Amino acid sequence: MTSPTSEQLLAAHPRASTDPDDRARASVDRSGFIPQSFADGVVFAQDIDDVVLTMKLASEHGVKIVPRGAGTGLAAGSCAQAGEVVLDLSAMNQILSLDPVQGIAVVQPGVINAAVNHAAGEHGLFYAPDPASTAICSIGGNIATNAGGMWCAKYGVTRESVLSLLVVLPDGQLLRTGRRTIKGVAGYDMNALMIGSEGTLGIVVEATLRLRPKPKHTATLVSYFPDEAAAASAASAVIAAGLTPSVLELMDGKTLSAVDSALGTDHHSRGGALLLAQTDGYGAHLEMQALQDAIEPLAAHSELAQDPQHAEALVEARRQAIPSMEKLGTVSICDIGVPRNRLAEAIAGLQRIEAERGVSIFIIAHAADGNLHPIIVVPEGQSITTGSPKAALADMFYLAKELGGTLTGEHGIGLLKQDWLPEEVGETSLQLQRRLRAVFDPQGILNPGKAI
Ligand SMILES: Cc1cc2nc3c(=O)[nH]c(=O)nc-3n(C[C@H](O)[C@H](O)[C@H](O)COP(=O)(O)OP(=O)(O)OC[C@H]3O[C@@H](n4cnc5c(N)ncnc54)[C@H](O)[C@@H]3O)c2cc1C
Repeated sequence: MTSPTSEQLLAAHPRASTDPDDRARASVDRSGFIPQSFADGVVFAQDIDDVVLTMKLASEHGVKIVPRGAGTGLAAGSCAQAGEVVLDLSAMNQILSLDPVQGIAVVQPGVINAAVNHAAGEHGLFYAPDPASTAICSIGGNIATNAGGMWCAKYGVTRESVLSLLVVLPDGQLLRTGRRTIKGVAGYDMNALMIGSEGTLGIVVEATLRLRPKPKHTATLVSYFPDEAAAASAASAVIAAGLTPSVLELMDGKTLSAVDSALGTDHHSRGGALLLAQTDGYGAHLEMQALQDAIEPLAAHSELAQDPQHAEALVEARRQAIPSMEKLGTVSICDIGVPRNRLAEAIAGLQRIEAERGVSIFIIAHAADGNLHPIIVVPEGQSITTGSPKAALADMFYLAKELGGTLTGEHGIGLLKQDWLPEEVGETSLQLQRRLRAVFDPQGILNPGKAI
C-alpha cells in the first residue's frame, strides 16, 4: 500500500509513475540485496526543475527519496522499499559541453561513464575513473560512491577528477560546489564532502569533470604466476620498486577459470593467478621494463602486448571477470582495502575464510591500491545477505581491520555494510557525520537508512 505522503508527491509530480514494473525495477541494484517490498513510485527526472520539484514536494510532505542513477551499485545504496519514492536520474544523460583546451566536460548525472570517455577520446583526452562497470554505470552514481577503477592506480578515484558540482539539496535549494580551476582553497571543500556521500546530502544534477590528455604510449603486460601468493608478492614488488603503473590488476585461479568458461580463453592453463599491468606516458616502455624486472623472479610466464588490439583483449579479460562470475550464480562483490604491502596476507586470509565458512570466494584486486574484491558466489535464488555469506562478509571486514585496512575501498556502505561502520570510523566520527547529515537534511528524507 502506498503511503499517504508518497501519494501526495506522486499525484502532484508530472514525471511520476506508480507502474508496478517501474517500481520493481527501481527498487533493486546489482548487490544481490532482495528488498521485502517495492518503492511506492518512481519520478523519472528529465531536467533540474523536475529534481527541484521532487525535493520541494518531498520536504513539504515528508516523503523519503532514494536517488538512483543506473542502478549498478553493489552496496544496496539505491535499493528502495515501501514508504519511499525513487528519483531516477538516468534520463538526464547529456554531455552539456566539452572544452578540449581546458580539459573540462560539463555533464548531466545520468551520462554513462563510458560515454564521457568516448566523447573525450575524440579530442585526444580521457576521463580517468573507469569502473569495470564503465559501460553501464552513471556519472551521478560514480560521484555518489566515489567510484574507482583500474586507472585509479595512477590517476586517482572519482574525487580527483570532479572539479565542481551542481546539487539540489533536500529542501530544493541549489548548491554549487567546487570550481572550474585546477586549484582552489576558498572555504571548506564542499565538493569533496559531496563526493562519496551516497546520495544522503544532495542530488547531483550537473558535474564539471576533469579530463586528461591520453597518454602517448601504453605498454601492456600479462604475467602468470604459480599461485595467488606469488602474484600478490609480485604486485608488492612493483610498488616497492617505486613504479607507478596505470593498471595493476590481480585475478586468482578461480576467476581465471570463470573467465575462460565465459570467453573461451585459456588463462588458467597458463598459471594459477594473473597480474595485468599497464604503464603509460612518454616513458611507458622503459617503466614496463623496470616492472618486468621487479616481477620476473616470481612470474612463471609473461606476455607483452604487441599491438593495441592484443592489449585490449588482455584488458577485456579483466573487465569481463564479474560478468563471467554472474553466469555462475548470484554474486556479492565485496570491497576491502589493505595496505599495499599486505596483499598476500589478505589473500591468504580470504582463502581461510572460504574454507571455514564453506562459501565460494573468487578474488580480483586493484593490486596497486591494495583494494581487493573478494566475490562470493551462491546458487541462483539463495540469499547472499544472510547465513554463511553474511558471516564471510563479517570475517572479511575483521581481516581488513586486522591488516590495517578498510571495509570498503570504492563501493560504499549503502545498506549492506552498516553493521561494521561504527567499528571502522569510531563513535566520535560517526556522531559528527550524523550531525553533519542532519544539517543538510534535518527532516531525514534523503536516502534514509543508507551509508551512515
Ligand atoms: C559488473 C560490475 C562491475 C563494477 N565495477 C566497479 C568498479 O570497478 N569500481 C567501482 O567503484 N564500482 C564498480 N561497480 C559498482 C557500481 O557500478 C558503482 O558503484 C557505480 O558508481 C554506481 O553507479 P550507478 O549509476 O549505477 O549508481 P546507483 O547504483 O544507481 O546508485 C549508487 C549510489 O549513488 C546514489 N546516486 C546515484 N545517482 C545519484 C545522483 N545523481 N545524486 C546523488 N546520489 C546519487 C544512489 O542513491 C546510491 O546511493 C561495479 C558494478 C558492477 C555491476
